[in-house]
Amino acid sequence: MSQPTLAEQLVLLAELANVDQKARAIADKLETVPAAAKKADEAVQALQKQLDDAEGKKDAADKAKKQIENELADERAKIRKWESRANELRGEREHAALVSEISATKRAMHRLEDTQLEHMEAQEAAQKLGGELKGKHGKAAALAAEEWLKVDADVKALKAEHEGYAVARKSLLEKLPAALTKRYETIAAKRAGVGVSIIKGEMCGSCKRMLPPQLCIQVRKGQVLEACNSCQRLLVHEDMTKAAGA
Ligand SMILES: [Zn+2]
Repeated sequence: MSQPTLAEQLVLLAELANVDQKARAIADKLETVPAAAKKADEAVQALQKQLDDAEGKKDAADKAKKQIENELADERAKIRKWESRANELRGEREHAALVSEISATKRAMHRLEDTQLEHMEAQEAAQKLGGELKGKHGKAAALAAEEWLKVDADVKALKAEHEGYAVARKSLLEKLPAALTKRYETIAAKRAGVGVSIIKGEMCGSCKRMLPPQLCIQVRKGQVLEACNSCQRLLVHEDMTKAAGA
C-alpha cells in the first residue's frame, strides 16, 4: 500500500473527525434512548434486593424457630424423665429438689416459647412482605420488559450504526501512516475522544482560538500537518470535510 500524500492524509483525518463525531452522537443516543428502560431495570433490581432481604429474614426466623423446637423437645424429655424419677423417690428432700428443678425448667421453657412466638411472628411478617414484594417485582419486571420492547428496535439500529462507524474508523486509521495513527490516538485519548479539529474560517473549531492565517491557508492547501497550539488537536480545514463528504 502506497503512503498517502500529506494532502490525502489531511482528508483522511477530516473523514475520521466526521466519523468520530457521528459515532459520539450515536453513543449519546444509546445512553438517552433506553433511559426509561434502564430506570425500570433499576427499579426491578431494587425490588429484587428487598425481596432477597425478606427471604433472608424468613429463613433466619425459620432456623431460629427450629432450633428452639429442638431445645423444647430436649427439655420436655428431661422433664418426663425427672417426673418418673420423682415418683420413685422416697427421700423427701431429694423429691423436693427434683420438683423445684422441674418447675425451674418449665419456667425456662415458657421463656423459650415466648421467644418462639416472636420468631413465628417475624417469620409471618417476612413471608407477608415477601408476598407483597413478589407482586411488585412482577409488575416492575413486566413494565421494564415493556419499556425495553419500546426501544428495542431503536437500540438495535443505533448499535448497528455505531458498529458501522467503528468499522469505518478502523479502515480510515489503517490508511493513515502508523505513526500518525498513533499520534491521533494519543491526542484523542487526552482530548475527550476528539483528536482532530476542523479549522473554521481562521479559528480552531474545537477550542475556538484564532489561528495564524498563514497556517490556515497551508492546511487548506494540504501543505502542512500541524496541531492546534492551544488544544493540541491535529488541524484539518473545513474545505476538506466538504471534500470528505461531511
Ligand atoms: Zn484548538
